[in-house]
Amino acid sequence: MSTCLFPGSFDPPTMGHVDLIRRAAKLFDRVIVAVMVNPDKRPMFTAAERVALLGKCVASLPGVEVCAGEGLTLELAREKGADVLLRGLRGEGDAGLEAQLAAANRHVGGIDTLALFTAPEYGYISSSIVRDVLRHGGSPRGLVPPEIESILREKTAAQGR
Ligand code: ADP
Repeated sequence: MSTCLFPGSFDPPTMGHVDLIRRAAKLFDRVIVAVMVNPDKRPMFTAAERVALLGKCVASLPGVEVCAGEGLTLELAREKGADVLLRGLRGEGDAGLEAQLAAANRHVGGIDTLALFTAPEYGYISSSIVRDVLRHGGSPRGLVPPEIESILREKTAAQGR
C-alpha cells in the first residue's frame, strides 16, 4: 500500500491545498494530511480548528485522512508508515525552499519528497492571502473550498482575529 504524508500549516486550507490532495489521492492508496504545529509561528486558527476545516474539505475523498503533528515531520512520517512526503510547488519562489527541506529530510530521515506543481488557476493562492482577506472582512470565495467559506468568515468575525 502506498502512503504519502502531506505536511503543512494549512492556516487555513485553500483551494490550492485541496486540489493537491485530490490529485495525490489518485496517485496513492493513502494520503495523510498533517497539520504541523510550528512553535515559531502564531497561527490564525488553532491546530484543532485546522484539522476540522481540512476534514470538511476532504470528507468525500477516499483514502485521505487528517491529523495534527508536532516535532520532526519525518518522525511523524515514520510513525504513520508513509513512503514519501508530499509538497506543492507554485513556482520558483517555492522551489528553492522546498528543495532545501527535501534534502534535509532525505539526509536526516532517509525519506524522499514528491512535489506536485500547483494547478495554474490556484498558483497565486496562499493561506496568507486568505488570512488578509478574512481580517479585512472580504469574501474568500474561490480561494478556499466552498465547504469552509462561511465557517472561516464566522470564526474571523466572531473572534476578531
Ligand atoms: P508550510 O508553512 O509548511 O509551507 P502551507 O500550508 O503554507 O505550509 O503549505 C503546505 C504545502 O502546500 C507547501 O508545500 C506549499 O508549497 C503548498 N501550497 C501552498 N499553497 C499552494 C497552492 N496554491 N497550490 C499548490 N500548493 C500549495
